[in-house]
Amino acid sequence: MSGIRPTGFLHLGNYFGAIRNYVKMQEDFDCYFMVADLHSLTTHPDTKQLKANVHRVLAENIACGLDPDKVALYCQSHVYETAELYLYLNMLAYTGELEKTVTFKDKVRQNPDNINAGLLTYPVLMSADILLHRARYVPVGKDQEQHLEFARTYVNRFNHRYGVVFPEPYAFNYNQELVKVPSLDGSGKMSKSENQMATLFLADEDEVIRKKVMKTKTDQGPTILNSPKPDYIENIFGLMKLVSAEEVMAKFETDYDNCTIRYGDMKKQLAEDMVNFIAPIRNKINAILNDEPFLKDVMEKGAVKARISAKATMKLVREAIGLNY
Ligand code: AMP
Repeated sequence: MSGIRPTGFLHLGNYFGAIRNYVKMQEDFDCYFMVADLHSLTTHPDTKQLKANVHRVLAENIACGLDPDKVALYCQSHVYETAELYLYLNMLAYTGELEKTVTFKDKVRQNPDNINAGLLTYPVLMSADILLHRARYVPVGKDQEQHLEFARTYVNRFNHRYGVVFPEPYAFNYNQELVKVPSLDGSGKMSKSENQMATLFLADEDEVIRKKVMKTKTDQGPTILNSPKPDYIENIFGLMKLVSAEEVMAKFETDYDNCTIRYGDMKKQLAEDMVNFIAPIRNKINAILNDEPFLKDVMEKGAVKARISAKATMKLVREAIGLNY
């Protein structure tokens, strides 16, 4: 089970941190993937844009290879049971713990005028999303690790207080290590909302991709054999590793180690490899976005599948709590 907020265009971080795993998992597991529209309300977006944003996230997931016939691909607000489970879990969530969440503290810093209770209890709603399907594996990027800890805490509190209903969920990634795709300017992670020029979006046009990659920071190059790489150079290699062929990577590694690397060439190569990676996805996104009846149908079918699972869980939850009179 996993979700993505409809708060903007999806980017390379979303792809490699989350969606790539979704696409593989659909072959191996019963999967529930949702557009987290309720979560997006915590930051007070212009809700007139919600519909278009929800459609975009759906189209972007499908363009990346997610098959709505193989998984339940749905919209969070269509599965009302989420709100009920969120309420029960809130009774097991202590405000002191929630106030220490890194993402909450970040949001408080960014928006001191909008410190609402929904923002504080974000990990509780996220736990409800996961536990609603009694999910074990949650494909997310590294930034979500702490939220998964909350989910396990609530599982243990619930199971201890009312009887065992939920398994413990864990962050999942096929490559063992959780992924963090860095921003192109080397300051933190790629994100939907921060510096747009430092983020490669799946909807970016070829020329925009080239421009963004060519602007990344480099220097004169190493002068001592086999020297360690500064962070911003490490980032470029990291991005290359995601999309370029192994032999291409190996060539630039060798050039770096023997001090003959030409960063201009490396960035040109990276830009072309990024274009080759992103362009087919972008073209598919645009085609799917034009088919609104298809997207509506996906959401409706997804909600039906998700609610079957949600209803079964809520029956167990109500019985365990004792709300079955
Ligand atoms: P969000 O964009 O915050 O709704 O996140 C959706 C999913 O993408 C979550 O699983 C995040 O962990 C993942 N994600 C977002 N940004 C990155 C990034 N820069 N690197 C890796 N994963 C990311």
